[in-house]
Amino acid sequence: MTERLRKLVRDIPDFPSPGILFRDVTPLLRDPEALRESIRLMADGVSAFRPDVVLGIESRGFLFGVPVADRLGVGFVPARKPGKLPWRVHQQAYGLEYGADILELHVDAVGPGDRVVIVDDVLATGGTARAACSLVEMSGATVAGVVVLVELVGLEGRSTIRADVVSVLTY
Ligand code: AMP
Repeated sequence: MTERLRKLVRDIPDFPSPGILFRDVTPLLRDPEALRESIRLMADGVSAFRPDVVLGIESRGFLFGVPVADRLGVGFVPARKPGKLPWRVHQQAYGLEYGADILELHVDAVGPGDRVVIVDDVLATGGTARAACSLVEMSGATVAGVVVLVELVGLEGRSTIRADVVSVLTY
């Protein structure tokens, strides 16, 4: 099944900028069995971390984060791009494989005692996941782990994250 999932991640050269090989998960999302299996593998991969809440990273982290949270029987909080969240926020700047950005999290989204699992579609350099970890720590909560569908192992993002990282497909 993992081979089938792998075939449904489409490689797009030079998107969104020259030299980037973009891993497009939309064909996998379109396939009912692949979608269900991806969610199952992501949720099963982090259930042992005993999370209280799932944090999804805008925007493709939302697509996987909510169903993973549902499967784990916990709630979901969104980490969003600047200016999108309506309440008071913690803010963290970070570098991307292609550019720089800021992530925000509501100040009351998670707090002391919460074990948080962070969800995204792709782990590249790890900057985005690290920013999400910082937001969790700013809130006084604990990062229980990080789970992604796709890990780009050559970029060594995993080694820059001070938490357990689980990935379903590696490239
Ligand atoms: P990074 O912070 O470098 O680990 O980049 C991870 C974030 O950027 C994730 O939210 C991904 O959706 C996106 N991203 C980075 N590189 C790629 C790529 N080659 N293909 C698809 N998405 C990517």
